[in-house]
Amino acid sequence: MTEAKDLRITQYRKEIYKCTRCGYCREMVRERDNTFRICPIRENTAGFEAYTSKGKMMLMRAILEGELEFTPKLAEIFFTCSTCGNCREHCPVDIATTDIFEAFRCDLADRELSLPQHILMGQKTLTEKNPYGEPQSTRVVWLEETSYLQKEAPIAYFVGCTSSFRQVEIAKATFKILKALGVDFTLLGSDEWCCGSPLFRTGQIEIAKTVAQHNIEKLKELGIKQIYFSCAGCFRTFQTDYPKYFGKLDFKIESISKVILSAIKKGELDLKDEPSINITYHDPCHTIRMTKKPDQTPRKLIKAIPWINLKEMRSSQKSSMCCGAGGGMKGGYPELAIKIATTRIQQALPLNVKYLVSTCPFCKRNLSDAQQAHNYPLEILDLTELIARRLK
Ligand code: SF4
Ligand code: SF4
Repeated sequence: MTEAKDLRITQYRKEIYKCTRCGYCREMVRERDNTFRICPIRENTAGFEAYTSKGKMMLMRAILEGELEFTPKLAEIFFTCSTCGNCREHCPVDIATTDIFEAFRCDLADRELSLPQHILMGQKTLTEKNPYGEPQSTRVVWLEETSYLQKEAPIAYFVGCTSSFRQVEIAKATFKILKALGVDFTLLGSDEWCCGSPLFRTGQIEIAKTVAQHNIEKLKELGIKQIYFSCAGCFRTFQTDYPKYFGKLDFKIESISKVILSAIKKGELDLKDEPSINITYHDPCHTIRMTKKPDQTPRKLIKAIPWINLKEMRSSQKSSMCCGAGGGMKGGYPELAIKIATTRIQQALPLNVKYLVSTCPFCKRNLSDAQQAHNYPLEILDLTELIARRLK
């Protein structure tokens, strides 16, 4: 029997006991904050209580009281969660659900109950510095202008693994925009390692800390003052996880959306006028719920462009339904991840939009997989691509 003192979730004991079992994290429809259902797992599976936040609180309470054993089934329940934070957003007693889930995933990892797919992801990150296991030497094959690599500059563009190895169109679009803005920036190239996000989320904390420490040291060595991100997951990890383990960072961090919005406001970015297009915007969980403050910058940027007509999905902003990819779901349970993305796209279809736009390469990847699986009549696009296509 596990002693409670040996568990990482013991630090959250009061939080776990705060759960009133109200079930708001299980199901809710509420017009005033665009809530339409809460938990993507409940909505896309048989809906058993154990998989909701309420159920998980009860399971962890039983673990703390020594009434439940650690088993592979328990691990399966806790890893079938995209750590999207929608339960946290709607919890009336403000339980930091996702922090607790992440701590419990570490407890599971300590007892060798991580999913094999997540262990493999960690091993690939150790050897190739990215969770995809792609050769690190190919990290910047998308980049034509190698003079930007590891040069002296005050700003670094941290590309992230998904844009480096899978959705390279986002890296290319961001690079093009930064050049158009005349930003003096550099890329870390082969010195950029995974930010650690998938490892922090799946309980592989030691590997996550190793890659994070490397990135911090390399950015310091290059004398970087500011980092720009086109990946919502990387930004969130630098903002919330890095300071937790390494203290206050020596550099500022900024999303590419904020950089572009600021340039548009100052009249520094010329975009071609276009006939009006209808789009909808999918808020990445990392951006709208998991950063220090909900970041509405992408939405403000969209609204600042006159030829874009933004139509909102039924669940949006802080109540946005997850795409299904995060928290290790895409690697651990790929079919369910695509099912969740399909449900999300189905919210966009009645809006008759040309593009479903987001600001997270991993959202784009999973939503695109669902779009292609069903041949839905819309294109999944990153906001940087939408803008880069219209640079003068
Ligand atoms: S919303 Fe919060 S208090 Fe209510 S059941 Fe869920 S975790 Fe417990
Ligand atoms: S974090 Fe998201 S997926 Fe996980 S239990 Fe909460 S609402 Fe469900």
